[in-house]
Amino acid sequence: MRIVLVGPPGAGKGTQAAFLAKNLSIPHISTGDLFRANISQGTPLGRQAQEFMRAGQLVPDEVTIGMAIDRMSQPDAAKGFLLDGFPRNLAQAKALDEYLHGADLRLNAVLDLEAPEAEVVRRIAGRRICRNDSSHVFHVTGRPPKTAGVCDECGGELYQREDDSEETVRKRLEVYHSETEPITDFYKAQDLVVTIPALGKVGEVTQRAMDALADRSG
Ligand code: ADP
Repeated sequence: MRIVLVGPPGAGKGTQAAFLAKNLSIPHISTGDLFRANISQGTPLGRQAQEFMRAGQLVPDEVTIGMAIDRMSQPDAAKGFLLDGFPRNLAQAKALDEYLHGADLRLNAVLDLEAPEAEVVRRIAGRRICRNDSSHVFHVTGRPPKTAGVCDECGGELYQREDDSEETVRKRLEVYHSETEPITDFYKAQDLVVTIPALGKVGEVTQRAMDALADRSG
């Protein structure tokens, strides 16, 4: 299956993507994670992305589109993938369409995670992520680790993302409304959008998503 996950920052895309990718046996491709890996390795791409991410802005398409398509072209993605954080604007959505068209592939669904703004701000403000694996996500009150600052799953160090500060979160939400939301209409026109509420327990949201995807595998 080829799935695109959309939704505001803090809707739980990363958390859900990790579970869904496992359930569906497809790779979880997160452009945010790819950028963060490049930043921590000090690559030229990472250096290019860093200032934009810090400011809560989109990394320019010239950098992002090539990186995403390169990742989608890897052998492990031949049978499908779950895209998280890409496409994030109309130009990226069109570039993805072109790539898929050229490879004679198509998307099965665009899963839209819906969450109220107050809730996403609360989630992001308390979010803590494992340095070893960004799919190990905790929340200071919502999902506290057993030991403060330590990942329950692997013992890694938990940290707060640099762009999770309140000011940057506001900017990211603004960018989401102006740049990313319009792609939902683009995909609605292709009859691909499935909207699910992202409130409730993590497992409940995963189940809703799996139910919504069940009849989209063809
Ligand atoms: P979130 O969905 O919580 O905002 P991500 O990890 O997906 O977090 O993205 C973090 C940042 O990485 C974004 O604010 C942006 O700067 C950059 N980024 C990720 N994906 C893209 C993309 N497709 N296009 C441009 N910038 C991106």
